[in-house]
Amino acid sequence: MTGEVGLAPEVAQGFSLDGRVAVITGAGSGLGRETARLFALAGARVVLADIDEQGLAASAEALRTGSALTRKVDVSSREELGALADWALHEAGGLDVWVNGAGISYLHSLLESDPARAEHTVAVNMMGAYWGCVSAARVMGGRGGGAIINISSGGGSKPLPGIGIYGMTKAAVNSLTWTSAAEFGPMGIRVNAVAPGWIETPMSRDLFRDETGRISEERKEAVRREMAAKSPLGRLGAPSDIAFALLYLASDASRFVTGQVLAVNGGESM
Ligand code: NAP
Repeated sequence: MTGEVGLAPEVAQGFSLDGRVAVITGAGSGLGRETARLFALAGARVVLADIDEQGLAASAEALRTGSALTRKVDVSSREELGALADWALHEAGGLDVWVNGAGISYLHSLLESDPARAEHTVAVNMMGAYWGCVSAARVMGGRGGGAIINISSGGGSKPLPGIGIYGMTKAAVNSLTWTSAAEFGPMGIRVNAVAPGWIETPMSRDLFRDETGRISEERKEAVRREMAAKSPLGRLGAPSDIAFALLYLASDASRFVTGQVLAVNGGESM
């Protein structure tokens, strides 16, 4: 048989974000930028939020499709997250999907961590996700529902020597995902998380630094090899691998899925 077979409307509709408004924090870089790009291609009106204004501008430029709104937000501020949800509703005309993607890593052992940096990591990764969920749910609840997705990490469910404060915040994000799914479900809001394996982004490139803090080419290759070997698939993950999982969880294709932490790590954990 010859000829092209298009995507059946039922399948296309299942994965479509047409007419939906999607807020993505951390959209100024890495996984958030790629997620915003894919969501826009899926038809969403995307609202890009990040603390990095230059990154936001570059992300909006990278979309090249649809109309993106951008807003500078510090997710460690409860007030700024609440204002973001209200602003999205008024400026973009809705709020259907919310991705808590902003995050920072902190590479220090528990005993050697600097108290202020440890607390800031908790404020951004844990409290940022918490206030993000609450801010989104307050608006979505009055509109019949929506989908919230947290970006957790494989590090949230295993020991992480040398990066334990980060791991602690991601374990909290998993717990937040379960409890908010249970509490918000009756409002029509699904809450899930994606737990990526190691994906090369500005954040994860910190692992390339040697003891002096410089990016070492030797170390870069060693880290890439080590990370690829963790997957039975034998390759590194890419930002788009994560963005497709987020699209699934944002769309009606996952309409009966809530309270799940989906590991997207090439089978590093099973
Ligand atoms: P990234 O490229 O560094 O992107 C994170 C973005 O969040 C950056 O633009 C960053 O801005 C922004 N941000 C930091 N603090 C913020 C704040 N207080 N308010 C608002 N925005 C803030 O990192 P990524 O790798 O894409 O990470 C995205 C998410 O995936 C994070 O939650 C991370 O923990 C998670 N994750 C990543 C990996 C990985 O291997 N890449 C694996 C597992 C989980 P600045 O650049 O100015 O800090």
